Amino acid sequence: MRIGIVGGGHAGTEAAKAARQAGADTVVVYSGEVVPPYSRPRLVALAFQQAAADELWLKPAAWYAANGIELRLATPVTGVRPATGEIEAAGVWETYDAVVLANGAAPIRPVVTGSEGALLPLWSYDQALAVRDRFQPGDTLLVLGGGILGVEAALRAAGAGLKPILVEKCPGLMPTQFTAAAGTVLRTLLEQRGVTVRTGVSLTAAMPAQAAGQWRYQLDDGSAVEARAAILSIGARPALELARHAGLPVDRGVVVTDTLLAGGRVFAAGDITQFAGSTRCSVREALGQGKVAGANAAAAAAAAGKPLQLYRYQPAPLQFAFNEIVLCSAGDPGVAGDAELETLAAPPAAYRALVRRATRLAGVQMIGTKQDFDQYVRQLASA
Ligand SMILES: Cc1cc2nc3c(=O)[nH]c(=O)nc-3n(C[C@H](O)[C@H](O)[C@H](O)COP(=O)(O)OP(=O)(O)OC[C@H]3O[C@@H](n4cnc5c(N)ncnc54)[C@H](O)[C@@H]3O)c2cc1C
Repeated sequence: MRIGIVGGGHAGTEAAKAARQAGADTVVVYSGEVVPPYSRPRLVALAFQQAAADELWLKPAAWYAANGIELRLATPVTGVRPATGEIEAAGVWETYDAVVLANGAAPIRPVVTGSEGALLPLWSYDQALAVRDRFQPGDTLLVLGGGILGVEAALRAAGAGLKPILVEKCPGLMPTQFTAAAGTVLRTLLEQRGVTVRTGVSLTAAMPAQAAGQWRYQLDDGSAVEARAAILSIGARPALELARHAGLPVDRGVVVTDTLLAGGRVFAAGDITQFAGSTRCSVREALGQGKVAGANAAAAAAAAGKPLQLYRYQPAPLQFAFNEIVLCSAGDPGVAGDAELETLAAPPAAYRALVRRATRLAGVQMIGTKQDFDQYVRQLASA
């Protein structure tokens, strides 16, 4: 039984493992990258020289062959035929009994004039190296996007001796996880660590500045800042081109059933999918879906035909720690005035905000402490 996997990220690697465990004889992982599968969240540390490349690999190099998985690096897939299970790479079509599509997402690029070379995405290994090579300590760096990725990039940049300016178009930081009050506390923490925070403003244009090697970034409030470059951290979207060409059902992501079947012999997992109407970028989800998609691909391909597993979505709380900064959030982020921020301890400062709908707990946000966070998460899950 032969299973072909498109994409060697978190979902693809997990799918390969699950397919082998479910009895597949041959598992081939096609990866468009030149390096082995790596932890994408660790790219920020790599970009700011706070982690070495070999700390990123998901598995040791020998693990793939030792587990009967053929990892084909630098082999991007250019076509998939769902009805027959064929995969095209390097001009050659090969046939599989089932395929797992796990080719992830791509960073969103803002539409701004003159931005070629001024905006650096931070989504892949080579992009992290490009960021690392662009900056010297003392350089000013623009970080576009005040979500968790932008916050981490700004903190790590400050830690590396750069001068980060964080620009967020919403009025507060981490608007999809934090109430305005929690966002204000986070802003103060960032400013104390050397990050300049600009909220409620967007980038409109980028052009070379007079000083060599500098860019001038125009913001929509009429102001402008100069920096060596800007890092893009405004989100990502499923990379749908391959699925679209293959004729798979595509909306905001590849639409999958509750067994993660996309169509024909193709299952899908990870950032590429749209499950129960939603797309998500999450390692936890990629691993969970990869496991089910890999096992189901093998089960569907088995001669006798085996029952397929159902994938069940479970909301994942956010937990982030960098040096002494701890950020946690789960459930409904609430709207302004919804949640009261309590100071739990000072110093070092610790805060908690509980979002309530009538008498029910709907969300929790914590800064500076994780105390009782798991308990709140359990309460949210049972509500
Ligand atoms: C900097 C950063 C920080 C993050 N931090 C967090 C975090 O803290 N917590 C969290 O839950 N999530 C985080 N994420 C998101 C998380 O990394 C993704 O949700 C996760 O990687 C999704 O796994 P995946 O396997 O679906 O896709 P990916 O890991 O993106 O893997 C897809 C792979 O497919 C390859 N590919 C694409 N097209 C082809 C093709 N045609 N042929 C062959 N291969 C192809 C890609 O090159 C890539 O290697 C972060 C992401 C980034 C970039």
